[in-house]
Amino acid sequence: MYCNLCGKVMHPSERFCSTCGTESTTQQPGMNAPPVPHQQNTMAILGLVFAFIMPLLGIIFSAIGLSRANQMNGEGRGMAIAGLVLSIAYIVFATIIAIVSISLVTEVVRTWPPNFA
Ligand SMILES: [Zn+2]
Repeated sequence: MYCNLCGKVMHPSERFCSTCGTESTTQQPGMNAPPVPHQQNTMAILGLVFAFIMPLLGIIFSAIGLSRANQMNGEGRGMAIAGLVLSIAYIVFATIIAIVSISLVTEVVRTWPPNFA
């Protein structure tokens, strides 16, 4: 390999050029170990996404994501919890809406025809 600035041949183990002192920016396999790819908690991400689309799947993915997070030093833990809370809130909200509308319809049907007298 060569120095980026002066072009002097540099030994792969040299970090700085011995002639001009420029720091080597070339990736050297073995010397600078490649950065460990950041592990992503895919299940937690899916859980948060599905919380808005299909809350039932959101709960399942978030639950898996939460157990994954515990194995991954807490990676994606907040996301999994958010997905879980959102999914449950969504289902509770939808259930309340359903109950209210069903009881409204039932009430209207039960008292039909309306007696305005
Ligand atoms: Zn140099």
